[in-house]
Amino acid sequence: MKVIKFGGSSLATGEQFEKVIKIIKDDIERKVIVTSAPGKRFSDDTKVTDLLIQYANAVINQDDYQKIENNIISRYQEISDHFKLDDSVIKLLKSKLDKLAQDKFTDNEHLMAAFKAHGEFLNAILLTQVLNAQNIKATFIDPKDAGIRVHGQPNDADISSETYSNLERLQLPKDSRVVFPGFFGYSADGSIYTFSRGGSDITGAILSRGLNADLYENFTDVDAIYVANNHIVDHPQAIKKMSYREMRELSYAGFSVFQDEAIIPAVKGQVPVNIKNTNNPQADGTMIVPEQFIFDPSNQITGIACSKRFSALYLHRYLLNKEVGFTLKLLKIFYKYNISYEHMPSGIDDLTVIFDRSKLDKDTIQKLCRDVKETLQPDYLEWIDDYAIIMVVGEGIAHNIGTIGKVIDSLTQNNIAIHMINQGASRISIMIGTRASDADNAVQQIYKTFFD
Ligand code: ASP
Repeated sequence: MKVIKFGGSSLATGEQFEKVIKIIKDDIERKVIVTSAPGKRFSDDTKVTDLLIQYANAVINQDDYQKIENNIISRYQEISDHFKLDDSVIKLLKSKLDKLAQDKFTDNEHLMAAFKAHGEFLNAILLTQVLNAQNIKATFIDPKDAGIRVHGQPNDADISSETYSNLERLQLPKDSRVVFPGFFGYSADGSIYTFSRGGSDITGAILSRGLNADLYENFTDVDAIYVANNHIVDHPQAIKKMSYREMRELSYAGFSVFQDEAIIPAVKGQVPVNIKNTNNPQADGTMIVPEQFIFDPSNQITGIACSKRFSALYLHRYLLNKEVGFTLKLLKIFYKYNISYEHMPSGIDDLTVIFDRSKLDKDTIQKLCRDVKETLQPDYLEWIDDYAIIMVVGEGIAHNIGTIGKVIDSLTQNNIAIHMINQGASRISIMIGTRASDADNAVQQIYKTFFD
């Protein structure tokens, strides 16, 4: 049995719904279908989830919300009209949207979550109706009835472990597909909580694990995950297969097909994930699988990612290796300013601390540097504001000698200064620090060396 999830652009219009129906029809194993809310139809269109946020804010501020609500309904109407569904369907969806504005919520956070969740909720009802009208038997399942239990923040929920025992007990109808709205679950007191944005992927992964799926197919609008970002490398090769941990390491440095955290439930259940394209379902897409399924010794590296979102603090002090408590004092300063750091590679007399720049403001940086100077008295301190990290990732790195050498050669031969190089303990990644201005060139050179 397969769980399949369709993203917002796959369910944005009647034409897109037709592609989805064909994909479902093509494989009887595609039994559990997870929906997103209708996404953008064209580049400056607004996603239904964002319209729902506007609707919620209008209700909170007691503004006139009729126009926004009509806008939302028109998105579903367009799809319903495409399939010439009975008027009763759109009436049902509209009554649910109307009711939202009258409901009482614990607070505005709970209100916002319930409004947002309706994008997927209504789309799942609509897709169920469309499938039945096309003679594909389908049953809508409310996450409440399936026992998708969550806790934490109403708009950034965490999954509760009892969800999995609830799903184990769930009896799926034998002769029908089932359609689940993605993106939300219910708290212990029955309130709707959504996952973080993009969270329909999480629902798909939870159902894959909880229902013991053989495969989780995640349909989006790209043919595959690519070896490198196609804004940096021209027509990069597609990745056919990668391991969960390769995906995790690449995502960290900015691979952005989806958040790696979204597939954690599938990883825990050891369910392979297949990223596929709704607009080109024939393409194999990218398989993300447990490590033990992957080994191909000829494949030295799988992907190259880069992120320019970092800054670094470089410290030099003679005989640093002999000094007791230097790092402890440094960590205490970070603690004092409530700063977390990403990495801390060190040498005999040097230490670099790498930070996520978005978490620091100018004032904190100044105070931090002053404090470090006074407390630790380094011989040299430099704040590098534009720091980039490049991740070269591959299960093959651990099995091939000389990969690091090749990576370094490709950079030095092109006059790219390497600020830091670190092979992860897992031995499947090489992390390289450069100036942000060198990062794109570095990715291009490494790509050329291993793939051209
Ligand atoms: N519709 C939600 C969002 O736009 C969730 C999703 O699409 O996965 O964030």
